[in-house]
Amino acid sequence: MPLTASKCDAFGADGNVIHLVDIMSFIENRANGVSFMTAPVIRARHGFSTRYGGVSEGIFSSLNLAMSRGDDPDAVEENYRRLTAAVGVDAGKIALTRQVHGNNVRVVTGPDAGLSDASRPECDGLVTAERGLALFCFTADCVPVLLCDTENGVAGAVHCGWRSSVADILGAAVEKMEELGARAESICAAIGPAIGACCFEVGPEVPEAAERLLGEDLGKLCRPEPGREGKFLLDLRGVNRRRLLQLGLRAESIAVSDECTMCLPEKYWSHRATRGQRGCQGALICL
Ligand SMILES: [Zn+2]
Repeated sequence: MPLTASKCDAFGADGNVIHLVDIMSFIENRANGVSFMTAPVIRARHGFSTRYGGVSEGIFSSLNLAMSRGDDPDAVEENYRRLTAAVGVDAGKIALTRQVHGNNVRVVTGPDAGLSDASRPECDGLVTAERGLALFCFTADCVPVLLCDTENGVAGAVHCGWRSSVADILGAAVEKMEELGARAESICAAIGPAIGACCFEVGPEVPEAAERLLGEDLGKLCRPEPGREGKFLLDLRGVNRRRLLQLGLRAESIAVSDECTMCLPEKYWSHRATRGQRGCQGALICL
């Protein structure tokens, strides 16, 4: 296979190439029964959790990270311990969001860490320049986006549902990262598992709002749904990727997961597949 700009190779002790990693793709990792996805384009500890490897039961089985959806709080805490151990971050230094589908992004530092509701700022994105502080965002069909400027030491975790996406939450996140010293052209992004264009049925107001955000035609990111009058299938990850390009990120710095949460209901929580009877997964990043 020819090497391209998006590939990097790994060498064994004898100097032979042992495998080829496509840095634009996602990889599944397992540690102590916990399964999580990573994107090699992000050069910091990070992960997108799956349902596998937690202790919650019933509709929350098994690695549920939602505290406020009716699951046993002790089980959820244990899930955080397992996931953070698997990814290699300190369970006592995690900053979480209280998400409201808006476009507010908060800068967080050490004192913002904590699992309790009281310690969570009401926002849909977190950024930090603090090493060792893990940022989380939560999804169950919405698009999780992790951002990282390793060179300048700034990271972000952003919950991009369609409302936050069209309200330009990524613009707000990149601006806040730049205030902390990041440069758009050195930010890498991983757009994680989310409802795909195969399943994300929307009314016309959603693509219309996405076109207003981007200031251009959506083209292949949206198509009428066959046999469903007035309904469209939207590639929300593609909309967010295009927005990141407009904001100055390089195409070779943006990885996009190809996994659809609604098509993979055993691996991921999907709000639509479960009709709301669900836990949630998390995306985390730590400098
Ligand atoms: Zn799907």
